[in-house]
Amino acid sequence: MKKHNFSAGPSILPQEVLKQASDAVLNFNNLNLSLLEISHRSKDFVDVMEEARELALELMGLEGKGYKALFLQGGASMQFVMTAYNLLENKAGYLNTGTWSDKAIKEAKLFGEVVEVASSKDKNFNYIPKNYSVPSDLDYLHVTTNNTIFGTQLKEIPQTDVPLIADMSSDIFSRNIDFSKFGIIYAGAQKNMGPAGTTLVVIKEDLLGKVTRQIPNMLDYAQHVSKGSMYNTPPVFAVYVSLLTMRWLKSKGGISAIEEENEKKATLIYSEIDLNPLFTGFAAKEDRSFMNATFNLTEDNLKETFDAMVKEAGISGVNGHRSVGGYRASMYNALPLKSVGVLVDVMSELERKA
Ligand code: PMP
Repeated sequence: MKKHNFSAGPSILPQEVLKQASDAVLNFNNLNLSLLEISHRSKDFVDVMEEARELALELMGLEGKGYKALFLQGGASMQFVMTAYNLLENKAGYLNTGTWSDKAIKEAKLFGEVVEVASSKDKNFNYIPKNYSVPSDLDYLHVTTNNTIFGTQLKEIPQTDVPLIADMSSDIFSRNIDFSKFGIIYAGAQKNMGPAGTTLVVIKEDLLGKVTRQIPNMLDYAQHVSKGSMYNTPPVFAVYVSLLTMRWLKSKGGISAIEEENEKKATLIYSEIDLNPLFTGFAAKEDRSFMNATFNLTEDNLKETFDAMVKEAGISGVNGHRSVGGYRASMYNALPLKSVGVLVDVMSELERKA
């Protein structure tokens, strides 16, 4: 039987997507060829890329609003570099809410002045800073909408007139937010969208062409836009599986429908964390992530028993990140509510036993 997969990433994908993906590896579109054996310039693959780019914008409600979607390589980490390379001329602002924001800041410093508008480093990133001011002379403000490691999530989009850039790697397509408030949105595929190997980048075109530096072609958004995300050979398998996952999401009713399910999952686990005296949540309550729930045992000596019970229940991937410790239940779009129920049952069973 398949495990209950709480992995933080790469992570669970819908079972039907895995089945369709494996069929395409053997025989794609009845071509009697594998998806992996055909030219990326063939009509069959160009159609995949075009549909994937359009569907990403459609799911986010961004069609006809001046945005372009790209499927690039190099992970979200490459976007730490590309965003600054393409947009940072003088000064950029960063909201520092965790390890990934921290890494983005380090890369941006190679290109210009960086202002940390606020940081939650003082409390090991267990909350989202509020009531900070954003200078009006920034080239952009960069935020991380969901902090995968610490289990916090940005509930409110910062109010500012400067362009907003968001790393949405771990909550893309999971909740309805006004995506049109952002100038660039990027997300590594390997959480809510598909396998590792591609990164969705959604760009408002009018932000491009404003820096004076020369940009190498592979790092130049304008090049990728003008070539329809086919400047070089794209990661065909990762793009195709991302397309299958987006089709799956659309067939379920899109982001609004999945948001309801994600809320139910999050409510279920956080209620247990709050009611069960053997567990304590890591993140500040008002900033809790609906994607990654981070929690600790209140009594360390129960760890062995709890871990054995978790394993026995067929649960996988709940160990916390080394910088937080404890446990982390990642509940991405494809994780069924039932799996969260199984974890919660194990947590309450521990309370009965202890
Ligand atoms: N940003 C966030 C929020 C992440 O969770 C991760 C990866 N876990 C990254 C960036 C880095 O992504 P990648 O490994 O694709 O470079």
